Amino acid sequence: MSLTFDFEPNAAPLATGERDALLADPGFGRVFTDHMAVVRYAEGQGWHDARIVARGPISTDPASAVLHYAQEIFEGLKAYRLPDGGIALFRPDANARRLRESARRMAMPELPEEIFRESLRALVRTDRDWVPSIPDGALYLRPFVIASEVFLGVKPSSEYIYAVIASSVGSYWKGGVKAVTLWASRNYTRAAPGGTGAAKCGGNYAASLIALAEAQRQGCDQVVFLDAVERRWIEELGGMNVFFVFEDGRLRTPPLGGTILAGITRDSLIRLARDQGLKVEEEPYSLDQWQADAASGRLTEAFACGTAAVVTPIGRVKSDDLDFTVGSGGPGQVTEGLRQQLTDIQFGRAPDPHGWMERIV
Ligand SMILES: *Cc1c(COP(=O)(O)O)cnc(C)c1O
Repeated sequence: MSLTFDFEPNAAPLATGERDALLADPGFGRVFTDHMAVVRYAEGQGWHDARIVARGPISTDPASAVLHYAQEIFEGLKAYRLPDGGIALFRPDANARRLRESARRMAMPELPEEIFRESLRALVRTDRDWVPSIPDGALYLRPFVIASEVFLGVKPSSEYIYAVIASSVGSYWKGGVKAVTLWASRNYTRAAPGGTGAAKCGGNYAASLIALAEAQRQGCDQVVFLDAVERRWIEELGGMNVFFVFEDGRLRTPPLGGTILAGITRDSLIRLARDQGLKVEEEPYSLDQWQADAASGRLTEAFACGTAAVVTPIGRVKSDDLDFTVGSGGPGQVTEGLRQQLTDIQFGRAPDPHGWMERIV
């Protein structure tokens, strides 16, 4: 099923000079484009009323279900400026599929993949001048769905708003890639079997913030969550998956199984690593083993990955009862190589053997 997006141009877009000044150093998540995509859903009517409109507040009744019961899901992907000036999306089909899977878990209607993809194409073409050309810059796209029925009873909403906003972003790190220090929380978990850990829903993030605050009090950059049952197995960060690199060249990443978000960066790196003949295991790995392997030198690198920051080296791990350095404590060779390979494909600097890029301009 597809829909045509009506276009209502922003009557007062940002002046070119002001936009270019913002694009020179956009940071992350604070610079927004002139337009947004909006589609509505109502039970009995389905998805309808697709528009590209001026970006602005979405008016919702204070009794809208999302404001009380957090029935909300989202996605995150980037549009990249290519060497010839064109623009491409990275694996939008994978985001479309994941949004549907998240919807299913949250008892929400699934957005047809063709509407998802058309919303991205229409928005990026409209706001094409907002895609930065600076190194590692991109247009970060944030599709999301909120429950908009006006009703305080607890049940799946009968009405929804799907929207896409776009944010011009620069490199995630100012002044080059830096290794992060992780805090392994003993007090808080992110996801339990049967819960919502595999769905990209805002509630997961809300529940993780107290652990992030704990990490920051301990002087750490991010949290690494342990499993909720045994409090022993590494799961992932609040918003990034994690990989371990061993001395013998093997890679390991925790298996998907309901409590881990299936990152598209994770999946892409597994394929790129296997393409070059590296062995990648999707197997559990415990915090104790991580510490032991880091001490013995058997483990040489570890990194986190996700769309926003791509690949982030992990330099040190701390918890109530431990503190260890991973490898050299800085970016490792395998980590750097994978980051370079992936970003070369994304920015159109290298061939795209898996057909991941969808050119839209
Ligand atoms: C979005 C997200 C990731 C990374 O997914 P990508 O598709 O690679 O951006 C990892 N973990 C969590 C919890 C996430 O929400």
